Amino acid sequence: MIVIRHLTKQYPTHLAVDDVSFEVGARETLVLLGTSGSGKTTTLKMINRLIEPTSGIIEVNGIKIGERKLHELRREIGYVIQETGLFPHYTIGENIALVPRLLQWDERKIQDRTRELLAMLRLPETYLNAYPGQLSGGQRQRVGLARALAAQPAILLMDEPLGALDPVTRSAIRREFRQLEEIRKKTIVLVTHDIREAFELGDRIALMDGGRIQQIGTPRELLLHPANDFVRHFFADQWLSLQLHVFSLEDLSPYLPDEQTPSPDARIFPAHTQLADVLQELAGPESVVFQANHRFITVQSATIWPALGQLLQNQTAS
Ligand code: ADP
Ligand code: MG
Repeated sequence: MIVIRHLTKQYPTHLAVDDVSFEVGARETLVLLGTSGSGKTTTLKMINRLIEPTSGIIEVNGIKIGERKLHELRREIGYVIQETGLFPHYTIGENIALVPRLLQWDERKIQDRTRELLAMLRLPETYLNAYPGQLSGGQRQRVGLARALAAQPAILLMDEPLGALDPVTRSAIRREFRQLEEIRKKTIVLVTHDIREAFELGDRIALMDGGRIQQIGTPRELLLHPANDFVRHFFADQWLSLQLHVFSLEDLSPYLPDEQTPSPDARIFPAHTQLADVLQELAGPESVVFQANHRFITVQSATIWPALGQLLQNQTAS
């Protein structure tokens, strides 16, 4: 859906993006991860032509973006930024309806879509007539997302969308994102410097440094098979906790004892659930049950760790 080949942005004094190539498939979320100044934002802004490349090719749906009319391209691509870019003197309703109005949707359809988005992003309808300044940072960020989604673009570009929020709010919004069907079916390029965010939201991660992609792959590939020392060191601090994001209950199942007859009040989890999400639910010594390979398997916080230890030993041995 998005194809990028040998993309370079040379400023007079600085090579911001240096020969970057990647593809983003339909419905895929690719995260551009890296420290400040690594070239993430410049790469993202070249996709919707806010910045013109020095050289290289960008295709969206098989067509070079330089050959598209700018307003048509931007209509297909939603864009969410940290500062939200909401107009302070427009109401929340007017902010969300901005693009549908430009596209001259009829007023009824605009109202329906606006209310649908508010409900989806859990914003009360009474906010329709409020102004951005009256909302909290987290609520403004949801409005920014609603506005980007309003005209149903197939592609969403997000630049540190949660960057201005506190860690607890960030984590809660991330969990909601992952559960929203409308977001899951979009092609997304998300920029962040937050490693956990990248692991929670990315189908694949492109780790950037000095304008170059150091490695691109699934979170599991980057963590278990780092391409070089830079990648290895980048994740070193959080190496253990990140395992909880790349392994599921099913991965753990060979290292856990069977449960013959799960108790009737047992909480049953899908086998593909990430271990991080399981631990979030497991407060204290209680257990959860899941089914994999026709077995019922019980897991408790006390048994997750030894089983994970064995799993890791096998992973690094293989
Ligand atoms: P990131 O989003 O990863 O923090 P950016 O893409 O914003 O990084 O910037 C990458 C590099 O390019 C930085 O070193 C930045 O200083 C430089 N840069 C960005 N914009 C310009 C510009 N207009 N002129 C010169 N250098 C720039
Ligand atoms: Mg940036």
